[in-house]
Amino acid sequence: MPSSTAIATLKSALNGTLLTPTDTGYDDARAIWNGMIDKRPALIVRCASTDDVVHAVNFARDNGIVLAVRGAGHHIAGSSLCDDGLVVDLSQMKKVTVDAAAKRATAEGGATLGDLDAATAAHGLATPTGINSTTGVAGLTLGGGFGWLSRKYGMTIDNLESAEVVTAKGEVVCASATENAELFWGLRGGGGNFGVVTRFEYRLHAVGPDLLSGLIVYPFAEAKTVLQRHRDFVATAPDELSVWTVLRKAPPLPFLPAEVHGKEVVILALCYAGDPQDGAKLIEPLRTFGTPVGEHVGVQPFAAWQQAFDPLLTPGARNYWKSHNFTTLSDELFDVVIEYVGTLPSPQCEIFFAGLGGATKRPAPGATAYPHRATEFVMNVHGRWDDAADDKRCIEWSRAYFEATKPFASAGAYVNFMTEDEGDRVRSAYGSNYDRLVRVKREYDPENLFRTNWNVKPA
Ligand SMILES: Cc1cc2nc3c(=O)[nH]c(=O)nc-3n(C[C@H](O)[C@H](O)[C@H](O)COP(=O)(O)OP(=O)(O)OC[C@H]3O[C@@H](n4cnc5c(N)ncnc54)[C@H](O)[C@@H]3O)c2cc1C
Repeated sequence: MPSSTAIATLKSALNGTLLTPTDTGYDDARAIWNGMIDKRPALIVRCASTDDVVHAVNFARDNGIVLAVRGAGHHIAGSSLCDDGLVVDLSQMKKVTVDAAAKRATAEGGATLGDLDAATAAHGLATPTGINSTTGVAGLTLGGGFGWLSRKYGMTIDNLESAEVVTAKGEVVCASATENAELFWGLRGGGGNFGVVTRFEYRLHAVGPDLLSGLIVYPFAEAKTVLQRHRDFVATAPDELSVWTVLRKAPPLPFLPAEVHGKEVVILALCYAGDPQDGAKLIEPLRTFGTPVGEHVGVQPFAAWQQAFDPLLTPGARNYWKSHNFTTLSDELFDVVIEYVGTLPSPQCEIFFAGLGGATKRPAPGATAYPHRATEFVMNVHGRWDDAADDKRCIEWSRAYFEATKPFASAGAYVNFMTEDEGDRVRSAYGSNYDRLVRVKREYDPENLFRTNWNVKPA
């Protein structure tokens, strides 16, 4: 460890706070979304400014200690923390500013999707992000980012205009299509490999502010027909419409009859990024896939829909995820899905198929570091439970389901959904872009200072 004098010098240079294991607030500062992660950094630098980030990066590099970078701390793998080393914690840097006339927003590196949505919705604007408002813009963007607006407007990275980055040398640089263009390419899917992003600039679109969105819920007995008809329906759906499927035990939602609560169901979650009246006509067939047990669909602020799943995704629970990409969904895959949903190991576990396609497919695989442009669906088996005694059972179920569905998956993996034990998937996550990422890494981080991530090795 660096000397206490060196640590005191760092502390005095900061606008933000430096926390060590004996400080009040240390345990709160090392708590992240996934309650399974229990790492104990030696130093947590809660940055208040880009200058603080520079001090923290220089300190970790010069003292040869491990460095981790935290946005909003949502990554399932807990890569935003490290044991013993230094955490560059951006969670207090959450400012978002909007230039409505130019349709641009800038978000600091610790902002959440909720922070971004709230600021942009005030102007009837939005950019595609993810589906849970407490997720960080930083990690989500650096891995790719997709959600309800992605079929219409592309992935989050497709809407990134520029970024301010603190490099391994401690330099503050701008990355955009015209400045440090290779770095900009690498940031769009290459994860946190190249530096600490202190500011993201996004292109915005006129969205709502009210959109048609909601849930249509079917009984599990109709699962196969619903999954088949959903697949066939979305194959010709316009880019404005996203319909995801979620299979899980029904939460006690007020619009569902009590006898359904706790029973397996198939949920169609939908959002129409256009005129709600057009959307209402388009979604009519979704009600005829079987006999729904409940429906909650209406016109509501998009920013509210972005928070609709927050109550099911609160921080602190134990989580273990596995995911596959798919270009098609086969009937045989559905049989496996149904078999495993029949043995869910906890009421909070779920399997979902997010619908991509549309605008996410249009860029070439090499246009950004994120390469999986042919993906039509991303499946996530979301193991989630409360009691550590259930760890083994729930993890084994998630892994077994992942293996059983592997034969139907297309190549690749999504870095933002990968668990800590999936180091063997790093190459396939970066796919055909890996070698170019290595070249960017050699230029910006040849000593691999930024390595607590889905690491691109410089050598
Ligand atoms: C409940 C939930 C819902 C989700 N839904 C979606 C979804 O709909 N769509 C989707 O695409 N993804 C989704 N994700 C995945 C999400 O994109 C990743 O978890 C992402 O890493 C979260 O970003 P974060 O800033 O909170 O991550 P953190 O855990 O803080 O960071 C993850 C990693 O990103 C890097 N990093 C973070 N901040 C910076 C920075 N400022 N500069 C450089 N590197 C940085 C670091 O390597 C760090 O280890 C979801 C995750 C959760 C837990």
